[in-house]
Amino acid sequence: MIDVDEAVQLIEQTSMPLPPRRVRLEKAAGGVLTAEVVADLDSPPWDKAMMDGFAVTAVDFAGDGAAAEIVELDVVADLAAGDAGSLVVRPGSCVRIMTGAPIPPGAEAVVPIERAVDSTAKVHAGGRVRLCEPRFRTGQHIGCQGDSFRAGQTVLAKGAQLGPAQVGLAAEAGASHVELLAPPRVAIITTGSELVSADTTPVHGQIRNSNGPMLAAAVAAAAAEPIPLGIAGDKPEPLRAAIAHGLAADVLLLSGGVSAGDYDLVPGTLAAAGVEQVFHKVRLKPGKPIWFGVLRREQAFPTLVFGLPGNPVSTLVCFELFVRPALAIAAGLPRDSWHRPRLTATLTTEAKGNPDRPVYHPCTMAGSDRSPTVTPLPWGGSADLLGLSRANALMLLPAGCGQLESGSKVEVLPLG
Ligand code: AMP
Ligand code: MG
Repeated sequence: MIDVDEAVQLIEQTSMPLPPRRVRLEKAAGGVLTAEVVADLDSPPWDKAMMDGFAVTAVDFAGDGAAAEIVELDVVADLAAGDAGSLVVRPGSCVRIMTGAPIPPGAEAVVPIERAVDSTAKVHAGGRVRLCEPRFRTGQHIGCQGDSFRAGQTVLAKGAQLGPAQVGLAAEAGASHVELLAPPRVAIITTGSELVSADTTPVHGQIRNSNGPMLAAAVAAAAAEPIPLGIAGDKPEPLRAAIAHGLAADVLLLSGGVSAGDYDLVPGTLAAAGVEQVFHKVRLKPGKPIWFGVLRREQAFPTLVFGLPGNPVSTLVCFELFVRPALAIAAGLPRDSWHRPRLTATLTTEAKGNPDRPVYHPCTMAGSDRSPTVTPLPWGGSADLLGLSRANALMLLPAGCGQLESGSKVEVLPLG
């Protein structure tokens, strides 16, 4: 059995950034670009209306900054977003135009619909509109071609991490695919012949599969791509088949079947599939039975494999401590984002550790960032997901710390 620090070190040594991949933009969130994104077109690609109103010539408004004066114009066409009218706007006339429609040739400004007097705001092609625009400016309410960026311009540099805004920008720039250190693909297998899915009412002897959905959520929250492979029972053949499938991913997470029971088939099945064990069992509570290994291959990139303990709280604590850094390294993120930041907080009550193993105890953290306080939650151990669900952090009670008094300082691992 090894210590948490040693286990983390072994994981960091075994993990490595994935090679760049070209991925569809819809799959790119969270990735780090390895090639810049260059715009293929100007944006906007043409001059466009930024308001609903009337596209007009400047001469009709007696130059910029004219005083309040009503201008009466023929409405010669209607232009909605998506239309591509080519009709020329001449002095004395205008085009009724909607936000997002292209500015017709000859038009030099948009007068918003709110500036139409009487009921002429409702006028369409063939009618006459009366406009009063006291602060007219040539070019007003027109988004000009190339205002945002130009064709050939680099809109996203190498190394940029793709959040929602960056993904939207890449789409605007015409990149349907991007090359990135892609979010790692993480296969998830839950083992246990007792497990049924959440939509099933368990019969005697069965329980619902918490870990499958929980791990998928944890993977997604760590900006990686979950690939749920369902429940494998504790039977050699289905487990072998599920593992063979899961080893095609960058990372394979299994839950359950890693302790010393008769039906704990995971380590043996992984070994038979060629996965090399790096460690088995770590001195911590909850999460002691965790197994970690790697499948190395000639042509393909290695797959990291975590056999997480079946009890849900153990599963999630092991995910936070061990899987999270492996995913961050695989995603190519810098060292300072491999682990969640830790804080030192003041205990509001007494707390008791374990003589042999450090305990990661669910707790609530409050107070300011500068002087946080921490309160352990009532918690029924490694199966008590309800207790964990009320926590916003885990606090670390070192092995052999005995009884810590209220006011003691403890290390805290925020979860949010
Ligand atoms: P194991 O690690 O397979 O020995 O499982 C330890 C405990 O966790 C047992 O009580 C299992 O029934 C339970 N368990 C295993 N897998 C899951 C799961 N996916 N969801 C909820 N509980 C589980
Ligand atoms: Mg089991």
